[in-house]
Order: sequence, then structure tokens, then C-alpha cells
Amino acid sequence: MEFFSISSNLRKFAFLSWPQASDAALQKGSTLVWPFGACEQHGPQLPLITDTYFSENILREVFDQLPDDFPIWILPSQSIGFSPEHLGFSGTLSLSGELMMKIVTEIGTQLSKMGFQRLVLFNAHGGQIGLLQAIARELRSQCPSMAVLPCFLWSGIESLNELLPDHEVEQGLHAALAETSLMLSLKADLVGTKRPFDGNFNTSKGDKSSVPDGWSLEGAAPCAWLSSDLTQTGVIGDSRGANSELGDQLRKVLVSHWSKLFINLMNSEWPPIGLKKIK
Ligand SMILES: [Zn+2]
Repeated sequence: MEFFSISSNLRKFAFLSWPQASDAALQKGSTLVWPFGACEQHGPQLPLITDTYFSENILREVFDQLPDDFPIWILPSQSIGFSPEHLGFSGTLSLSGELMMKIVTEIGTQLSKMGFQRLVLFNAHGGQIGLLQAIARELRSQCPSMAVLPCFLWSGIESLNELLPDHEVEQGLHAALAETSLMLSLKADLVGTKRPFDGNFNTSKGDKSSVPDGWSLEGAAPCAWLSSDLTQTGVIGDSRGANSELGDQLRKVLVSHWSKLFINLMNSEWPPIGLKKIK
């Protein structure tokens, strides 16, 4: 499906008139979801817009699952993100961390002043998870009446372990099996024919240029890698087995996971009113 369905169209913040936006903001539990992606290299087989395409299209399918009376709308996407790790590859555009902080806190402050009560930063680019978490904390402290929830498309999906081999769950960090398969499911005509297996996975063989023992690319003791440290093709992981059936399955679990989380959020009273301090 290429076009937003009618129900997703009705959920687009930018399709509201100003009186509708004003009424929307004042509804109890009014919530905005801001899709975050990137414009960055995704190997020779995937388009620069991959992450933005994922956040917009998975959200569209998630929104089609939500009850019509939920006061929730989708903001215009932030399709250029924080991608310094990929600037060594042509096509990558990146905003600085400072500029991202300014954009998100300025827009977030305006939304809070309108009266919106929750802002979800729905992000599909792994390289800006930490940054968006820090920005969300900063924005929440500046606008305490508005909840700010930074989340990452691929995080917390338990059944990923059943669908992907262990090495891809742990080390398929970029443009590998999962992303190539998901794009084959969503928009196969944007996927090229190359299927690289690339990236530095040699963490334990004593190669001095590899990740030091006990340290890792991501996780507990990460290395803040640049893609040029690890890959010649831009792929970090194994894209060779990518196929649209796996993409369909990934899409299904992503939509079902995020539908559940959005329903839980909309049925909650979050954010709480501040607790009374006890001396
Ligand atoms: Zn990506």
C-alpha cells in the first residue's frame, strides 16, 4: 500500500485546521507522535531514506489499529537526523547534536504551550537513540506538564530473537538482514540487487584492529564506532538471506508490538502530577 488510508490521513496533525488543532490539544490525553528517521547511507542496496520510510510506514499501519476516538495525531517527519557515523559515505546528511537538541526542544515547547499532553519521538535510526533520550529528558524538564517518550522502532521486540539468527540480533547493526527484508516487504522497488556481508565482527580473535575484548560495538561498553571503522560497503551485518517473507513477519511483529504500546499509553494517565516532597 503506497498511500495513507483514510483513517491515517485523519490522524495527520498537519491536515488539521487551526481550530481543529486547538481543540485537539485540549482533549484529555492529547498525544502527538513525531516520526524520526535519517537520510544516510544504507549499503549499496537500500535507499538513503530507509529509516524515515520505516518509521512513517510502520506508524501508519499502527495507527490503522488504534480506536478512532483516541486523541492522537502524527506530526510531519524529521527525515534528516543525527548521522555523523555515516558521513564518510556519500549521500549522508547529518544535523549536529546541538541543532537536533534545538529543533526538538523548540518544537516540543511550542506543542506543550498549545496544550498537548504527550509527545512520542518515534525513531527508526539506531544512531540517535541516546541523543533523543537526552533531548527528551531536557524537554520534559523544561515542559513538565508534557510527557516525552523517546522510543526506537527495533527495541523491545521480544520475538526478534525467533525471527533472526543470533549473530544478526547482536551484530546486524545496519542495512543487514532485518532492514533489507523489511524494505523488501514495504517497498521492494527501492531495494537494489547487492547483498553484502560486511562489518567488523572479530571481537575475540586477537586482531589488534578489532573491538577490544570485553568492549562491544553497542551495549554495555560501546565504542562510538564510525561506519568507516567497520565496513567497506556500508552494511554492518549479513544481508545475504534477506527476503520479503521475513520482511512480512518483521512488519507484523513491529506493528503488533507498537499498537499494543500505543494502546497502553493512551489508556494510561501518564504523565503523573508531581509527587509531594517529604522532608
Ligand atoms: Zn537504518
